[in-house]
Amino acid sequence: MSRYRLSPTPGQGVGLEEHCGHARYVWNLAVEQRSWWTRYRGKPPTHLERCRQLTDARAGFDWLKAGSQTIQQQALRDFDQAVRNFFGGSHRRPTFRKRGQSEGFQVVGKNARVEKLNRRWSRCWVPKTGWVKFRVSRKVPDVRSYRVTRDRAGRWHVAFAAVPMPVDPPGTGEVVGVDRGVAVSAALSTGELRTCPGPLPTETERLHRWQRRLARATRGSNRRGRIQGRIARLKAREADRRKDWVETISTDLARRFDVIRVEDLRVKNMTRSARGTVEKPGKQVRQKAGLNRAILANGWGLFVRRLEQKAPGRVERIPAALTSQRCSTCGQVASGNRESQAVFRCVACGHTANADVNAARNIAAGRAVTARGGTGSPEPVNREPQHRAPPHLTGV
Ligand SMILES: [Zn+2]
Repeated sequence: MSRYRLSPTPGQGVGLEEHCGHARYVWNLAVEQRSWWTRYRGKPPTHLERCRQLTDARAGFDWLKAGSQTIQQQALRDFDQAVRNFFGGSHRRPTFRKRGQSEGFQVVGKNARVEKLNRRWSRCWVPKTGWVKFRVSRKVPDVRSYRVTRDRAGRWHVAFAAVPMPVDPPGTGEVVGVDRGVAVSAALSTGELRTCPGPLPTETERLHRWQRRLARATRGSNRRGRIQGRIARLKAREADRRKDWVETISTDLARRFDVIRVEDLRVKNMTRSARGTVEKPGKQVRQKAGLNRAILANGWGLFVRRLEQKAPGRVERIPAALTSQRCSTCGQVASGNRESQAVFRCVACGHTANADVNAARNIAAGRAVTARGGTGSPEPVNREPQHRAPPHLTGV
């Protein structure tokens, strides 16, 4: 996705918000309907049936009819795709969308038109609203569809679903393993530790202060709205920083290595929950680790997706249960090998390394170890991530 800041006129802003409202309404109806259907109630309605229902709803509600049919239909198509992603195991179950939270709608087909105005400005077409200007910060990709979004800070963006250009492999035959750590964001088998920028200490402090003030502010007051806006802007900045980091490191790896091996997250999640948490100290520590993990879990999905786009056919997902307990030098697997969260020390050969780097080396070697000690891919695949992002954090 390449994203550009949209500059709608105040009048257009109202129109865009209406589109958001319609898309949200249609989406939420689909979610509600789907959750009502259990296996005892037969098959849930198909996408086609839902489209027919939408036609009926438009006939019954003037406000819905006043909106754009293509945008409403596209919301159903998005939902359909979201359900397929969920059953494919790559995404969470589609949930209700709330007003004011990551709102948006999709423009596709012959409606999706972009025109260049001058060196700095272009404009995109939105049904019923017309041409909306956006600032060109970098080259606009070839467009077949785009998504107009409003973030919690109230900023409008247009995002083009452009697949990043593949990066040429170096041709050295070099393989790298990447482990998603808890303390560091990504550990490479080369020994490099790459950390995704989190909030600065001053930002965390400010965030906590505002959250305390928010708790005291009267519901519906102007003051409350102002504080919410500030919190949203701070989080949006943080999320942007994480996205930038993912783009940088994925390009870097695609350029430096021929084969990139990553752990299969779904499997890792499963083993993690079975094993319980490794870190036992006080409450605050675990809270922080959980938060950290949630951020990383969000970022990891995007990271792997970007890698596969930039290095097509060169990314391998390794079902990597027990990579953190296996010695990358002698192959000994023992729970005692883990001296601490950060340090790996093999009980057999005495090999000592950063725990995440040791895991990354196992991943680089493509060693898939199951709990029974054999190799191969463990059976049950966990479809829903164990860690949900805390409500006050936007996804990457
Ligand atoms: Zn060893």
